[in-house]
Amino acid sequence: MLKKTDQDIIKGYLEDSSNLTGGYADGLYIPENEEEVREVLLECNSRKTALTISAGQTGTTGGCIPFGGWILSTQKLNRIITLNVKENYAIVQPGVTLEEIEAAVKKEQLLYPPDPTEKKATIGGNVATNASGGRGYRFGATRDWINRLKVILPSGEVLNIKRGQLVTRNSLPVPLYTMPQTKNSAGYYAKQNMDLVDLFIGQEGTLGIVSEIEIALRPVLQETFDIVAFFSSEEKAVDFVFEAKRKIDPGVNFFEYFDENTLQMLKQTYSHIPTNAKAAVYIEQEITEENKKTHLEDWAIILEQFGYSIDDCWLGLDDNKKEELAKFRHAIPEHINELYKKHKSIKLATDIAVPTDKFKEMYNFYNSQLVTRNPKLFSIKFGHIGENHLHVNLLPKNEREKTLAKELILRFVRKAISLGGTVSAEHGIGKIKHDYLKEMYGKKGIEEMIQIKKTFDPNCILNRGNILSC
Ligand SMILES: Cc1cc2nc3c(=O)[nH]c(=O)nc-3n(C[C@H](O)[C@H](O)[C@H](O)COP(=O)(O)OP(=O)(O)OC[C@H]3O[C@@H](n4cnc5c(N)ncnc54)[C@H](O)[C@@H]3O)c2cc1C
Repeated sequence: MLKKTDQDIIKGYLEDSSNLTGGYADGLYIPENEEEVREVLLECNSRKTALTISAGQTGTTGGCIPFGGWILSTQKLNRIITLNVKENYAIVQPGVTLEEIEAAVKKEQLLYPPDPTEKKATIGGNVATNASGGRGYRFGATRDWINRLKVILPSGEVLNIKRGQLVTRNSLPVPLYTMPQTKNSAGYYAKQNMDLVDLFIGQEGTLGIVSEIEIALRPVLQETFDIVAFFSSEEKAVDFVFEAKRKIDPGVNFFEYFDENTLQMLKQTYSHIPTNAKAAVYIEQEITEENKKTHLEDWAIILEQFGYSIDDCWLGLDDNKKEELAKFRHAIPEHINELYKKHKSIKLATDIAVPTDKFKEMYNFYNSQLVTRNPKLFSIKFGHIGENHLHVNLLPKNEREKTLAKELILRFVRKAISLGGTVSAEHGIGKIKHDYLKEMYGKKGIEEMIQIKKTFDPNCILNRGNILSC
């Protein structure tokens, strides 16, 4: 096992994509197998030394950034152990990247469906945050594709947990709060008679180190086509999605949304975005050679209902065109990060999802607070509209706007909670969203989470400051 204390090396482990600064650590462990991970945990636990797990460092909430103690990097735990083509599963170490998994399974005509945008992220990081991706509308989040986890606890105990292994509130102090009926990555998963494996998905490394993961796979998608439809108002685009969700199913993999400002921002690179476009919706549909024409006709009919022609859409009917459209969609985070850097601002973004019947109310609330009341503060709304989950990014240009942006995000959080939504649908809480989690589950909910944390990590060594302040 490599052990480093050179601060020039450690510096590279003090950042992720949250722009959170001020992290520091005494040293870095780079274990090469499970036994070494266990040794590190035993050593840190006996000395009560804080240990922060670092993986792909693509997280958006500062989860892998240490504030003291040592770092454990999963970078050398990067083997695909088994790929079982007959039974559609793979067993992998936590440091394997999504890119590597997707490439390996594709060779076998298989697909790991959760499709988070950032492919340098590791599967361990995805499990820890219950990441979800573009195709979440059809295939769900990471949680839905985990068959089994091996988790090493601070005590050195190794748990090998298969899906189906249930726990009750009699055997474990599972929190009593009710989770929202939306996709969700906020706090610990908690239900009566729940699968134990679910507690360790989305735990953000606060309960144990995930050292082995069995993921479920499915056959690759048959053919797909993509449509990017442009609209003359945001309202029309939102209504279009609701209508399409009602009429066209199954086989739609995602509905992604771009508001007016997102399109404005992307025009720097994509100057051919129609000048009158105020919003866009990007759809991916699975098809077969036989039903391709019918599906295109179905979309043309719905678009006509809203006064648009499919001929005015950007269509991805072949691989080159589909790749171009995927790049268009994935260009959003890069453009936003550039803006944050330019404004020297920390990320001020929501990760809110609400139940379907509350989405329009939430959307109107965003616009009433942003467009109507604070038009000078630059904001963009984009993302997974199929799952009623938009990222609202606020880009303040000065201190006054920064304060305003923070106030607005709190207002959004409170509104979403009042509608039965979540404060984090996919990125987790990390070190920067504690206040929102408290809004969501209250003081009692937080105390219940502390009880679970203490059950597995009584000395509070693991990922201090993630989810909870201890
Ligand atoms: C451009 C861009 C696009 C993104 N798109 C998406 C998206 O579409 N969907 C989405 O959900 N997220 C997205 N993210 C966020 C990020 O990729 C995810 O949160 C991802 O799961 C982080 O994985 P990582 O390997 O980078 O983990 P890190 O950032 O290194 O760590 C994340 C958390 O996981 C913990 N952790 C890591 N490995 C383990 C382990 N083995 N055991 C226990 N805990 C562990 C860490 O301690 C930390 O708390 C995006 C980020 C960027 C920069």
